[in-house]
Amino acid sequence: MINKNFLKLQSSYLFSTIAKKVKTFKAEHPEVDVISLGIGDVTQPLPKACIDAMHRAVDEMADTVTFRGYGPEQGYDFLREAIVKNDYEPRGVKLDLDEVFISDGAKSDCGNIGDILDTRCSVGVTDPVYPVYVDSNVMSGRAGDFVDGSWSNITFLPVSAANQFVPALPQKHIDIIYLCYPNNPTGTVLNKQQLAVWVEYALREKSLILFDAAYEAYIQHDDIPHTIYEIPGAKQCAIELRSYSKTAGFTGVRCGYTIVPKELKVPNPKEGEEEVMLNALWNRRQCTKFNGTSYITQRAAEAIYTEEGKQQVRQTVAYYMQNATMMREQLMQMGYEVFGGTDAPYIWLKTPAGVGSWEFFDLLLHQAGIVTTPGVGFGPSGEGYVRLTAFGKREDCERAIARIKELA
Ligand code: PLP
Repeated sequence: MINKNFLKLQSSYLFSTIAKKVKTFKAEHPEVDVISLGIGDVTQPLPKACIDAMHRAVDEMADTVTFRGYGPEQGYDFLREAIVKNDYEPRGVKLDLDEVFISDGAKSDCGNIGDILDTRCSVGVTDPVYPVYVDSNVMSGRAGDFVDGSWSNITFLPVSAANQFVPALPQKHIDIIYLCYPNNPTGTVLNKQQLAVWVEYALREKSLILFDAAYEAYIQHDDIPHTIYEIPGAKQCAIELRSYSKTAGFTGVRCGYTIVPKELKVPNPKEGEEEVMLNALWNRRQCTKFNGTSYITQRAAEAIYTEEGKQQVRQTVAYYMQNATMMREQLMQMGYEVFGGTDAPYIWLKTPAGVGSWEFFDLLLHQAGIVTTPGVGFGPSGEGYVRLTAFGKREDCERAIARIKELA
């Protein structure tokens, strides 16, 4: 017998349809040099500090004296210390090392975290949304049934220009809420006050927030929280997911981390027994199902926190953000309505009046040779938008903008 929940999954036509359309277009127009601003992968190489650290770690592996086999499931202390000291202390957040769990990237833990939560929990996500949050809950049976285009146990919180991309609090109780800021796909952010509203809700409702901060490195403005733990009370209601993929080009190397604070406790279902620490459950889960991120990778991640590494990361982030700024400004000058792109590497472009996401995608592909991502592919509230990424090479971004200008 199989896990029947997998049969409930809705086919994701988004990226396969894009790929098919692009393939057909290229076959029919071999002379067009197609520029992709569609996928969320990075284009710049790893920082040199990381490469050097990996070379050193490989050499250690070649010697019986310095060879490392299985590492701690939770990650090596050298990396956990670097995280606590560099990502949290400067923001006024104190964490113990055993609240930090090194992962092989944020995507895995976005799904894995569901292991420690009841499948009857209700779920809340924004619409549009990073699809992993929805599908991982479908797989575990937590999403309910797909009825009339929506999941019976998932509440979708619409975000669009109409609410300035700030999701309104649900009118009912939700057990697990996924928040992703800076946001993929819209590129928008919440300031401290706006995030505090969610922390207050979670504390009041005894909900759990899963805060995905994969794009934290792109934050440019002071009032935007880098971690949810900058908000008082968040340690009692939130787990934070981080990734080095977009910070330092680790999309192929694979490393991230998850913070599960020890203050995060839930009532024990066994009457009269002490509250349960999610940290202890997660630790147990990791020790059973995960054998740690590779030593070489963790040494590479550690190097991000050296002076040299920090400077190189800043340079790469600045490179992508200059792409974003250039694209944003040029598109606005052309009269387009654009969102995001100031604290995130994504631009959420409003399609011209009356033109749907897919229609505009087709138009840009056929008339300008540019690949974007139709917003509606991330959820119904994404209709009327397309996503552009700033992860391209500078010259590609510039050429793409020049082509859009010619269209106008
Ligand atoms: N979370 C969000 C919001 C993302 O957009 C992505 C990747 O695109 C991830 C998580 C996955 O990150 P990782 O490469 O660390 O698995």
